[in-house]
Amino acid sequence: MAISFSATAKAEICRVFPQKRCCALAQCFGILLFCNSFSADGIRIITESREFAQNLPKLFKKAFSVSFDVLPETETSGKLIFQITDREKITQIMAAYGFNPADTLALNVNLAVVEEECCKASFLRGAFLSGGSVTDPVKGYHIEITTTHSAVARQTYALMEEILGFYPKTAVRVGAQVLYLKQSEQIADLLTYLGAPVAAMGIMEARLEKELNNKVNRRCNCDDANTSKVVEAAQEQLAAIRIIRERGLTENLPQKLQQALIARENNPEASLTELAAMMEPPITKPAMNHRLKKLVELSKEAV
Ligand SMILES: [Zn+2]
Repeated sequence: MAISFSATAKAEICRVFPQKRCCALAQCFGILLFCNSFSADGIRIITESREFAQNLPKLFKKAFSVSFDVLPETETSGKLIFQITDREKITQIMAAYGFNPADTLALNVNLAVVEEECCKASFLRGAFLSGGSVTDPVKGYHIEITTTHSAVARQTYALMEEILGFYPKTAVRVGAQVLYLKQSEQIADLLTYLGAPVAAMGIMEARLEKELNNKVNRRCNCDDANTSKVVEAAQEQLAAIRIIRERGLTENLPQKLQQALIARENNPEASLTELAAMMEPPITKPAMNHRLKKLVELSKEAV
């Protein structure tokens, strides 16, 4: 199976393991608020990223000294599922963020946890690792994070603006809130911020390549259009010349038009510039164009 762009970006982000406990707590906060399920009934984190799966137990150990109750089988391919079902562990984790499992209030981003700059980055890293994805830039520009908690979506929206200087776009998808970006530069900025500069460069390279291809295509189309216009015009002129010849009108033409007629007749593929240079004395391109147009008009009058 080909490794997705998303998986590569996540692997890159996972190389940065939080050194400080504050950052481990913040990263776990992002993971929990953007994971499959985080409630008093249990914690369930589902991922396809091997690197993230490797880091998860270490992260939870560092943040809460807590281990998972259900770990994925090591040989499993595809989705990896981590669970905590033990009530005491859940209470302990919730308490670390100031939540009470008995409290029915909706979960939100406890701003004290993401106060430091280092922790803000860790939080978003966690959010992306557990609830995010980025599309291969060859297919399109899209990065998103998804949470089931609407307060969390609102707060993360503001947090992203504070950190990156621009707001993400928002959407609702079957009970989940989606924050996403569509602009290549913004996606690259976010990836760089998350600690994936190589993936960010991948986005910018894909964009450059697309721009280059577009430019080449535009130029080709333009050349084709010009070429066919020139050919069409020359054919119209040659047809006009045939009519003028058939009607025996050549003799009565002014000297200048006779010259133009002969030049075109003998050089069916010459450009206007080339024909203009053949005139005696040489004339400008617009003047040459004017003479040929005159020939076409005369042929139409003669019909
Ligand atoms: Zn920190």
